[in-house]
Amino acid sequence: MIKINGLHKRFGDLEVLKGIDLEIDQGKVVVVIGPSGSGKTTLLRCLNILEVPSAGSISIDGQTIDFSKPVPKKEVDLIRRKSAMVFQHYNLFPHMTALQNVMEGPMIVQQKSKEEARQKATQLLTKVGLGDKLDYYPHQLSGGQQQRVGIARALALEPKVMLFDEPTSALDPELVGEVLQVMKDLAGTGITMVVVTHEMRFANDVASEVIFMDQGKIVERSQPSEMFTNPKEERTRQFLNLIQ
Ligand code: ADP
Repeated sequence: MIKINGLHKRFGDLEVLKGIDLEIDQGKVVVVIGPSGSGKTTLLRCLNILEVPSAGSISIDGQTIDFSKPVPKKEVDLIRRKSAMVFQHYNLFPHMTALQNVMEGPMIVQQKSKEEARQKATQLLTKVGLGDKLDYYPHQLSGGQQQRVGIARALALEPKVMLFDEPTSALDPELVGEVLQVMKDLAGTGITMVVVTHEMRFANDVASEVIFMDQGKIVERSQPSEMFTNPKEERTRQFLNLIQ
């Protein structure tokens, strides 16, 4: 489903991704962990082309872009539609209700009719447990509820790949569980997911694989049981010791 080759990303003189190679099969849930500043968010943003890689190639669901050449906007749009992102700070439109937030993408990006978009948004919001909050504005919802709207909004774009960038980091501890449960349910549907998170229990319970990144590189990649009990690399061990 995802194939990344030799991916580099620079911000001016700062090289944030230093040659990432990664393949992810359809239906896998890959959790990315690593210290702050190691490039986890940048990797996710490159997959959705919110950041344009400096070099390398990305292929998602058969759509490939080689960033060593100039990239036509049309190709960027095509690959971007393969994935949808859930952000740490939800990024909902404050002046729109939950329903309108979820309808917006299908109407603008996919040119769906208002009625079709409404039906779909209602169905998705019900699926994330917000069927009774369709007409609430973001400020009337808890952080956990806002993030569930964020997940419904991403799903409305019918992506092949769901990208989660620390989706529970901004939440009060008692609201984390409801968002992780929605993500867990989603993982069970067979959609491919890439999740940057510090929730090691989620990683342990749900991930097919865990990737440890440090300083712009993938240091180690393994199944969660292996990563958490028997990490191979010293840097991974140090990181896990610090957070556990
Ligand atoms: P992580 O998600 O692992 O914490 P990030 O991908 O957010 O790491 O950031 C990696 C590095 O890239 C950091 O040093 C950060 O300051 C830098 N960085 C991220 N985005 C930008 C940007 N738009 N401009 C300049 N530097 C950036």
